[in-house]
Amino acid sequence: MTEFEPVIGLEVHTELNSATKVFCDDPAIFGAEPNTLISPISLGLPGTLPVLNCVALEKSLLTAIALNCEIPSRTSFDRKHYYYPDLPKNYQISQQYEPLGRNGWVDLQLKDGSQKRVRINNIHLEEDAGKLVHPDLPSARGLSWVDLNRAGMALLEIVTEPDITNLEELEVFMQTLRSILRYLDVSDCKMQEGSLRFELNLSMRPVGATALGTKAEVKNVGSIKAVLRAARYEMKRHIELLESGEKVIQETRLWDDDRGETRSMRSKEVAKDYRYFPDPDLPSVVITPAWLGSIREHLPELQDAKQSRFVQQYGIPEYDAGVLATDRALADYFEECCRKHSAPKTFSNWIMVEVLRELQAREIEIDESLLTASRLVDLVRLVEEGVISNNIAKDILKEVMETGKEPARIVEEKGLRQVSDEGALLALVREAIAKNPGPAQDVREGKEKALGFLMGHVMRASQGKANPAVCRQLLEKELSSGG
Ligand code: ADP
Ligand code: MG
Repeated sequence: MTEFEPVIGLEVHTELNSATKVFCDDPAIFGAEPNTLISPISLGLPGTLPVLNCVALEKSLLTAIALNCEIPSRTSFDRKHYYYPDLPKNYQISQQYEPLGRNGWVDLQLKDGSQKRVRINNIHLEEDAGKLVHPDLPSARGLSWVDLNRAGMALLEIVTEPDITNLEELEVFMQTLRSILRYLDVSDCKMQEGSLRFELNLSMRPVGATALGTKAEVKNVGSIKAVLRAARYEMKRHIELLESGEKVIQETRLWDDDRGETRSMRSKEVAKDYRYFPDPDLPSVVITPAWLGSIREHLPELQDAKQSRFVQQYGIPEYDAGVLATDRALADYFEECCRKHSAPKTFSNWIMVEVLRELQAREIEIDESLLTASRLVDLVRLVEEGVISNNIAKDILKEVMETGKEPARIVEEKGLRQVSDEGALLALVREAIAKNPGPAQDVREGKEKALGFLMGHVMRASQGKANPAVCRQLLEKELSSGG
């Protein structure tokens, strides 16, 4: 039986976080009332002229630099024609002939320690289309509503070569690229809001073969997890076709996340169907070495450099530094905590375990969380000062994430102060001993483990508020004095 391996290339669309759209000054914001961020230009009314947004172009060039692209001395815009209700002009301004970057690459760090290079075919700047919405209303049945707020937003497209050959590489590529884009601060990369979208191109070929098989393209995949599911689904579909002697059809397919399957959307257009031609309304842009040089100066410290610096500067383990540096916002957050209170290892522990877990559960990023750096600092201080126990602090952290309340206020409102008063604790300790004569006897006979059991009893009885160090001392004292 022939064994097949996947060949994958991605077309990545990322909405740039420039304040305005790419060819006019409509605000570029997500989530506004439909059709409120529009103007004659974004509506494509006759007689209007586009003007290139320089910030969007500079962010695109910065990305091209970071992705190791060759940048031409001149870049220009072309019209890509197709008819769809969300595209008011019936063409999209894009870059076909002189994209702003070519022949770049991204290096991936794989789990087994090896590196994999995925080549970038080209990077180009274009405008986004609007959106069709299908509200669940009686008055909207059978209709599509058009929201043009997104029409004209700056969209950067990054096209890879078909270099990805398994699912691990696919996942690491998506994570790495997302991290780079966030580091560069060119996009917020919120997949759930569509500001980062991956289109999957996948074919299968016999292991060892070099010729490419026929590919299918999959659109409408809303998360990294969904891309991986869609890839797994397509691999299976292709293998079944190939093994039964059928042909894979080159087409565009749509991912249905609820059903976990793809279905055919349309046979694939080829470039000539789009009737590309240079947009006569937009002059070419000359990219001088001096200009590129000044953009290059804005290249921030990237992930690897940050990881090394964290180890040096804060004395935290390589592993911690690696986790913190995967995301720029997370790294900035860690540093802000350390600036306010110098306890790097404590913060890295909290962030790597509790904070990341809570962020993942809520599917948000640290910069969207109500747990600001100063709130985490306050929380850590409360633990260090013995006001609350570590376990109580974990509960408070969740509540801060939920409500944005100050940690100290939650402690007061819920009466969560740690009890260190010996008088109050002694009663609990004696009760624990009285109720658990067996374990108590074990401790007297020198079995250390049983002490933990009694400690657990005291902590539960105090609802986690007893000061563990004080309790331990009291328990030991009581048991050694024959109590
Ligand atoms: P199209 O014109 O159909 O959009 P492109 O040549 O522009 O095709 O490639 C689009 C994407 O598909 C690129 O990311 C490319 O790497 C990938 N790709 C091209 N051919 C294959 C193939 N046979 N298998 C998998 N991916 C492919
Ligand atoms: Mg394409």
